[in-house]
Amino acid sequence: MSLMDHLAARIRADGPVSVAEYMADCLLHPQYGYYTTRDPLGAQGDFTTAPEISQMFGELLGLALAQAWLDQGSPAPFTLAELGPGRGTLMADLLRATRGVPGFHAAMQIHLVEASPALRSVQAKTLESYAPEWLDTADALPDQPLFLVANEFFDALPVRQFLRAGDGWSERRIGLKDGALSFGLTPTAAQPALAHRLADTRDGDLVELCEPAAPVTQCIAARIAAHGGAALIVDYGDWRALGDTLQALRAHEPADPLQTPGAADLTAHVDFEALAMAAKTAGCAFTRLTPQGVFLERLGITDRARALAAPLQGDGLETLIAAHRRLTHPEEMGNLFKVLGLYPSQAAPPPGLNT
Ligand code: SAH
Repeated sequence: MSLMDHLAARIRADGPVSVAEYMADCLLHPQYGYYTTRDPLGAQGDFTTAPEISQMFGELLGLALAQAWLDQGSPAPFTLAELGPGRGTLMADLLRATRGVPGFHAAMQIHLVEASPALRSVQAKTLESYAPEWLDTADALPDQPLFLVANEFFDALPVRQFLRAGDGWSERRIGLKDGALSFGLTPTAAQPALAHRLADTRDGDLVELCEPAAPVTQCIAARIAAHGGAALIVDYGDWRALGDTLQALRAHEPADPLQTPGAADLTAHVDFEALAMAAKTAGCAFTRLTPQGVFLERLGITDRARALAAPLQGDGLETLIAAHRRLTHPEEMGNLFKVLGLYPSQAAPPPGLNT
């Protein structure tokens, strides 16, 4: 049995599935899911991420969080959390960079929200000297000050896709045609969750709705509002999404999202407005959405790169220069990736971000 067999059986029994149901099965099906069964990151894998490109990313995010913790009076104990930690690289770099921050390591309780058993075991190895605790979902985070990072987590959450038709919407579904997966549409219906999109869309426009994003953000924001803390959410996307952004990556190449279910990474752009509104509902303040390149430059990535470059030459130096460029240049990840900060309304925004 493969994920394709499972999906075909499911569609034959219950009819076509939504794009969100398809994404959820592809990524996290307990037996055949992409994340459940493998470590997809790095040169040998299907895609790479900022922390895998350079240690500078995790170091700077870590120091920004530690500064926010100092600015809020060094609350102890506090939760240091990450959503979807991948290989644990960002957390390891963050922890190394914050070793010298007085009291930070003594007060932290590390919690990792991770759904994949395969990646949990990689994280356990990377972070073995820190004894982190794993959680299945963000609602299990302790009720105490929360300092959190999430890089490329929200883009893995399933989205539904809707096509505008008059004042209604028809939902994109995935069914079977001649034994292969194929897109179709439901009849048009009203969609109260998309009422705010009637003003900025036209007939035929496609809009994505990520239903799990708001509840996850509210769990985080409620703790930050009640007990203090900060969240740095980094992902690709924008303030409001428009158009079909469902994307499959296999061996670092774009693939057809319906071709190899469970064997390619599937993501969709993050609608940061939805995250910010969920945070606001929970009583938490949010920063201006800031391009990753601008954020990292403000935190001093160029100085850090110079320090790391000092003893290097040849290939090592070239690799470092390329990594700095990749993380910050507007034509690489610098502009496509954005940062949203969450913080208590009575506190200052986290370093590198403003209101
Ligand atoms: N942050 C890492 C990995 C990004 S890949 C990095 O930047 O390298 C996405 C991560 O989120 C993986 O660890 C994946 O297993 C996890 N993930 C995806 N969906 C999840 C969910 N619904 N709940 C918890 N973890 C999830």
